[in-house]
Amino acid sequence: MPSVIVIGGGLAGLASAAALGQSGFQVDLFEARAFLGGRATSYPVPGDSSEVIDNCQHVLLRCCVNLMDFYSRLGVADRIQFHKQFYFIEPGGRTSVLQAGGLPAPLHFTGSFWDLKFLGPSDKIGIARALWAIRGEHGKRQDLDRITMLDWLREKHQTERAIRRFWNQVLVSAVNEDLGRMAASHGFQVFWLGFLARADAYEMGIPAVPLGDLYGPDGWKRIPNVRFHARATVEHVIADQGTIRGVMAAGERHSADYYVSALPFERLPAVIPELDLDLAGFEHSPITGIHLWFDRSITELPHATLLDRTMQWMFNKAGGRYLQLVVSASRSLVEMPRAEVIALAVRELAEFFPRVKEAKLEKAHVVKEIRATFSARPGLEQARPPSATKFDNLFLAGDWTRSGWPPIMEGAVRSGYLAAEAVTRATGREQKFLLPDIA
Ligand SMILES: Cc1cc2nc3c(=O)[nH]c(=O)nc-3n(C[C@H](O)[C@H](O)[C@H](O)COP(=O)(O)OP(=O)(O)OC[C@H]3O[C@@H](n4cnc5c(N)ncnc54)[C@H](O)[C@@H]3O)c2cc1C
Repeated sequence: MPSVIVIGGGLAGLASAAALGQSGFQVDLFEARAFLGGRATSYPVPGDSSEVIDNCQHVLLRCCVNLMDFYSRLGVADRIQFHKQFYFIEPGGRTSVLQAGGLPAPLHFTGSFWDLKFLGPSDKIGIARALWAIRGEHGKRQDLDRITMLDWLREKHQTERAIRRFWNQVLVSAVNEDLGRMAASHGFQVFWLGFLARADAYEMGIPAVPLGDLYGPDGWKRIPNVRFHARATVEHVIADQGTIRGVMAAGERHSADYYVSALPFERLPAVIPELDLDLAGFEHSPITGIHLWFDRSITELPHATLLDRTMQWMFNKAGGRYLQLVVSASRSLVEMPRAEVIALAVRELAEFFPRVKEAKLEKAHVVKEIRATFSARPGLEQARPPSATKFDNLFLAGDWTRSGWPPIMEGAVRSGYLAAEAVTRATGREQKFLLPDIA
């Protein structure tokens, strides 16, 4: 079987390697860091090796079928725990629960949606109308990549409260961008597949193990023809007349029949300058994760979305004592000193969970991912490259490539599968790896 070099051991590179490896290709994967998983990984807290934390809490929805397929390839799909309830908490602690009832999609939320306490009747009627409009306009309307989600919501006369407490709360964390900067096509994607297409599609999957354990050595024993080269930064590729001849990694040359680049977009120009892609439209959007360890349990809820404050999500990581808070599109926190971020987080948390006021904060850690994802702005879809390149044996993957999805784990895995399919096409023995969306 032909050989393949995969550059980058994030989800896109790992998905490519798994698919090609299981199809019999000899795969060598080069990863710059000591561990796999890229942005979706875990590591010991700097200065405290006793505590392993996720880079940031990563969640998925049941509609992320390719990501689940990738986990199945590694035998770890059962480590994802799906939750059927979404908890919305207002400052003061009033809690509402969104969950599917007995009706079929798209009516499955009807009961719990009307019971949500943080929205009024006019907000809800407006949201129901807008959801209906998404059903009608999805796949038909041509300008969704040219307008922002906020433009679209205003066109649908959404109330300010519905925008702030419902649309904003769901979409900013799903797409990692503000509604006024996010292309409406991404908002449609999330609601169409996650909320309307199937009654269980919204269920939120949370890994029950540290992220890094999902890609541990046991899973790869099932795919022995994938070899890993860790701490092996690919410095550059060797290109010659439309073909890639090799890569230089740690001062040594390595060659294969085919190459998959699963690098982030900002690394590409340095490693493969010959590709000469127009990346001018790509900008980053940050995410901040705040890890807090208290001396006692703060809450029994497994997770919750926090309304009207800077902190957007709370994840209960260990019996209510270790909580992780997540802020997507966190530009307001980028310049803020870490001690202030922690103080803000504790202050806000106390508004939702009164036990925080009596508790002692034992330790805290802030992870500011300035380059968390690309900013999914209007007009960018055309600039996202497909897997094929001008080189006959080089293919692109990465959550920023044209995966059809926003910059999330499902998008990264899809891009990896698409690049792997392109490799098989180039060999003349085409194979399919990509699973279709649920609708
Ligand atoms: C804080 C945060 C929270 C997030 N939350 C979620 C979430 O809840 N749900 C969700 O679905 N998605 C989430 N995402 C997005 C998700 O993590 C990414 O979409 C996905 O992990 C991207 O995978 P990738 O393989 O495309 O890129 P990356 O993970 O960036 O992988 C690229 C790899 O290439 C390696 N590399 C770079 N240069 C070289 C080189 N020269 N040679 C060799 N290797 C190199 C890097 O070390 C890295 O391992 C989050 C992202 C962040 C940062």
